[in-house]
Amino acid sequence: MNIQNALAALKEKFGYSSFRPGQEEVIQHLLNGENALAVMPTGGGKSLCYQIPALLMPGITVVVSPLIALMKDQVDALNQEGIAATYINSSLSCPEIDHRFAMAARGDVKLLYIAPERLDSDHFFNELAGLNVSMVAVDEAHCISQWGHDFRPSYLTLTETIAQLPSHPVVIALTATATRKVAADIRERLNIPTANEVNTGFARDNLSFRVIKDQNKDTYLLEYLKLNNDQSGIIYASTRKEVERLYHLLDAHDISVTYYHAGLSETERATNQEDWLFDRKQVMVATNAFGMGIDKSNVRFVIHAQVPGDLESYYQEAGRAGRDGLPSEAILLFKASDLQIRRFFIDQSDMDEEFKQNEYRKLHEMQQYANTQDCLQQFILRYFGQTGTEPCGRCGNCLDDRAFQDVTVDAQKVLSCVKRMRERFGKSLVAQVLTGAKTARVRELHLNDLPTYGLMSSQTQSHINEFIDFLVASGYLNQGGGQYPTLSVSEQGVAVLLGHAKVQRKMAVKATKTLPVAD
Ligand code: ADP
Ligand code: ZN
Repeated sequence: MNIQNALAALKEKFGYSSFRPGQEEVIQHLLNGENALAVMPTGGGKSLCYQIPALLMPGITVVVSPLIALMKDQVDALNQEGIAATYINSSLSCPEIDHRFAMAARGDVKLLYIAPERLDSDHFFNELAGLNVSMVAVDEAHCISQWGHDFRPSYLTLTETIAQLPSHPVVIALTATATRKVAADIRERLNIPTANEVNTGFARDNLSFRVIKDQNKDTYLLEYLKLNNDQSGIIYASTRKEVERLYHLLDAHDISVTYYHAGLSETERATNQEDWLFDRKQVMVATNAFGMGIDKSNVRFVIHAQVPGDLESYYQEAGRAGRDGLPSEAILLFKASDLQIRRFFIDQSDMDEEFKQNEYRKLHEMQQYANTQDCLQQFILRYFGQTGTEPCGRCGNCLDDRAFQDVTVDAQKVLSCVKRMRERFGKSLVAQVLTGAKTARVRELHLNDLPTYGLMSSQTQSHINEFIDFLVASGYLNQGGGQYPTLSVSEQGVAVLLGHAKVQRKMAVKATKTLPVAD
């Protein structure tokens, strides 16, 4: 089929004059009858990639989406454009579902939205198999991969379902969040040729990332919200309890705020969500239960009060800011101790060992993100496998104009201490040895006999901890997995120990006493 038809449909049905990056390529693959994967950032225009070919294909397009809350809106919007679409999910009665299937069988709809859970039922499959399905669109396709951050078992049934449909539909998978590994997994499971992955990158040019480290979070939040009191935003916290604590704190300071977590009643959740959606309340404090399928365009900031478990979730949650394309902020309030809590939860969970190691690895990436000196946007893009990009010029690190200081000597002290401790211990014990702490554990292990014991006694343990985080993030130290990760010296670190390389760090210039003004 000709791409000109697609362009005509873009103009006639949607009123747009040209395609966005990647759209044309994806649509061309589909019209050629080839499966394709579209990886595009939030707001990149993924929906049109299947909506337009759906109009041009003879049969029906089945859209699989986990966003049940959003289905009705999506379908209403299509109907308003004069496009015949409907949805089937658990919110509907049985007779209503039958009615909609009958409509689809008559050819009265072009797009049928369904929740993946539906596919688990034989009855449902038989109904579907009776339709002339030309295409299956798999939205939020990263949910199909166990390596992704949002794996959903019901997505696994998809592969089989599609293969068994007698009409042999073409398949389009779409996502805004996929590492190379996850993208490969999606392609394999859905039979998509490598060459048909259309990846426009993940960069969000209007988002500024920032990491705020080791500050009093409450104070920071209050100051930030007072300065931005006329803006809408989300604050993510890691537990229900913390959500409620922050809500009460902000509320007590007259900030226009509401909250959301899975422990609230359905009515409370709906009321609070709408207060925020319709700008009756500016700030939403929530757990990560909030946000999937929320389509609010004027969100100016997303602040994480605790570190999320992986960079994919972080980027997806942060990406809820600035869907309207206007400048917006994504801020992570970071404390190293938050990581320890997360490690504890992983350790206590009943996941198998391989899965635990994967979770630890993801957490480690998050820690690297919080401690890197590089451009934060670039760091994220690299994580998703997108290399060769320029520094963004907007993030906290790009704007950090503190001068580099040579910290080679301190780095050598830490690295040699790690070596002397035979690379068998973690950060806090290394810091104890370097500061010459007189703890029982140090004595038990005879670490006070090491030549590096007390070598940095003029510094505090928390300073050294932070310095070690920096050395890990910069690749001089390796940090193992597990709940108590051990430190070892990397190849790059060995070069520093041997005096072959220098270590530079951006540091706050210490306040000095002002000089007396001469008159
Ligand atoms: P995504 O699903 O990738 O987050 P959407 O499909 O919701 O993004 O599209 C985001 C917005 O961009 C929508 O308002 C959509 O109508 C608009 N859009 C998509 N494609 C085009 C285009 N070719 N020209 C202009 N606007 C477009
Ligand atoms: Zn940057």
